[in-house]
Amino acid sequence: MQQFILINKTLAIVLICACLTQLADPPAQAQAQPELQWFKGNTHTHSHNRGGDSSPGEVAQWYRDHDYDFLVISDHNYLANIDVLQQEMDRLNQREERKGFLLVPGEEVSNSVTVAERSYTIHVNGIDTTKTVGQLEGDSVQHLMQKTIDAVHDAGGFPHVNHPNFVWSITADDLYSMKRLRHFEIYNGHPKVNVNGGGEVPSLEELWDDLLSRGRVYYGVATDDAHDFKEWGRNRSNPGRGWIVVRARELSRKVLVEAMRAGDFYASTGVVLEDLSMADGALRLNIKQVRATDNNFELYRTEFIGRGGQVLKIDTSLEPTYQFQTGDLYVRAKVASSNGSHAWTQPLFAPGQGRFE
Ligand SMILES: [Zn+2]
Ligand SMILES: [Zn+2]
Repeated sequence: MQQFILINKTLAIVLICACLTQLADPPAQAQAQPELQWFKGNTHTHSHNRGGDSSPGEVAQWYRDHDYDFLVISDHNYLANIDVLQQEMDRLNQREERKGFLLVPGEEVSNSVTVAERSYTIHVNGIDTTKTVGQLEGDSVQHLMQKTIDAVHDAGGFPHVNHPNFVWSITADDLYSMKRLRHFEIYNGHPKVNVNGGGEVPSLEELWDDLLSRGRVYYGVATDDAHDFKEWGRNRSNPGRGWIVVRARELSRKVLVEAMRAGDFYASTGVVLEDLSMADGALRLNIKQVRATDNNFELYRTEFIGRGGQVLKIDTSLEPTYQFQTGDLYVRAKVASSNGSHAWTQPLFAPGQGRFE
């Protein structure tokens, strides 16, 4: 059987381990390893420190009450100290005998650059940073964005570029020219960031396929970019619109961030995947069906998308599968529910294809 490269290092290690354990008696240590689990979280949210209408405590409480497992409070050019808040959350969880809720430090590094009398906005989230990055200046969009990405790495974190179509600032060529960038938002719940593109400008998903088609691995992130927790409406940036679900062995900062860095997650606006595998040259999903009553349930349509954004296959089952074909560069899956929500897997590249910069 043809061999395929997994872009997901974590998964590759798991599969190698699984093969090895079949060859020999599993050592006691391996048996003791916790199972892989899915953890739901949002990596882009604002509090009243910079941008939001509520305190970090109120913001964290909203996500905890809505069954999230982790949260990054990413205020504009402000890295909050989350230690005290994490202790409060731990005490609350213990008292109420609830599952853990993890805060991961972060900042939305927010700057702009004027070129030929036109202003461009460059917002990059620093996830798991240890110091504030703050205000930066640059000569061009690409110069400022690369400077921000480098500064986030220097602050100990990893970057995801936010809402590229906000004030029509960031193009596919801009993203393609970046070094040390693997993550960007393919969905953002803020009502004013032009997720769907328009006119000649591609949607964030079209942008993603453009970049993947050039043979570079980029991971797609969904966030809600929530600012408004007190007033609700279509024109408000309310929480709960977009998130990621990360596969990890435990809900600790180190393990969770490692999985995010490695792209072991899917993005969602509502669709839940019970399982997801990228092995033996196939992409396999297991969709959790929402079923209110016998006759009232959601249906799903999964598109497997490849080079140039081309739909390679449509599968309407709850266990959609795509087997790699000769000539495929990459494949990613997008699930659409009958009620309008989606899930997006990360791309799986063919052997020898899919490079990082
Ligand atoms: Zn922003
Ligand atoms: Zn934001």
